[in-house]
Amino acid sequence: MEDTYRHKGLRKQLIGLLRQKGIADEKVLEAMESLPRHYFLDKAFEEWAYEDKPFPIGHEQTISQPYTVAYQTVLLDVRKRDKVLEIGTGSGYQAAILALLGARVYTVERQEALYHKAKSLLRELKLGNIRCYLRDGSKGLPEFAPFDRIIVTAGAVEVPAPLLEQLAIGGILVIPVGDPVQRMHRITRISETEFQDEALAAFRFVPFLKGLEKEE
Ligand code: SAH
Repeated sequence: MEDTYRHKGLRKQLIGLLRQKGIADEKVLEAMESLPRHYFLDKAFEEWAYEDKPFPIGHEQTISQPYTVAYQTVLLDVRKRDKVLEIGTGSGYQAAILALLGARVYTVERQEALYHKAKSLLRELKLGNIRCYLRDGSKGLPEFAPFDRIIVTAGAVEVPAPLLEQLAIGGILVIPVGDPVQRMHRITRISETEFQDEALAAFRFVPFLKGLEKEE
């Protein structure tokens, strides 16, 4: 893996574009500028890594568009040492951004091949503080709850109840909800029983699916 001046230059341009599109959180922009997105795509598609587009990562899944990663990460408002649950590891890019922001990351993927690939890449990048799980994310990770932050990176038809239950009081859940287009929701847990739900911009994510998908 190599991060050349050319890659760095392209990344700077991408960050400029994200700013133009309204992303203003310097910590998030800094993390995205420091992380080589091309490591998360197959070598043959490196050229595409710094376009503001989603990209196929195999198994009918995509690495989210940089703008979407930035948008969700800003909403999540991660603080250092926060315990963060991500549903939908995919390429591992979003998990890496969260780790760079100082979070303790727990990321869950339902597809075995993607889980293995992301896990070994994240280990190789030595970002620390990221744990990968092969699970159905709709159940969350009850044994590690509560989480300060939860982020879902696949489009859900409804908010899974276990994720609400596993959110700490004062915690934030960012989740795209709807079919076939999703609105981004930011749900804040006010107390044991009260949640504040804000419906924000529209996005189109790959579907949130139930159960595990194993390699044959
Ligand atoms: N955060 C990823 C984006 C991946 S796309 C990245 O940065 O690259 C969404 C991912 O969610 C896919 O890999 C898909 O397999 C996964 N997914 C969908 N439903 C899921 C579920 N119920 N549990 C865990 N992962 C799920």
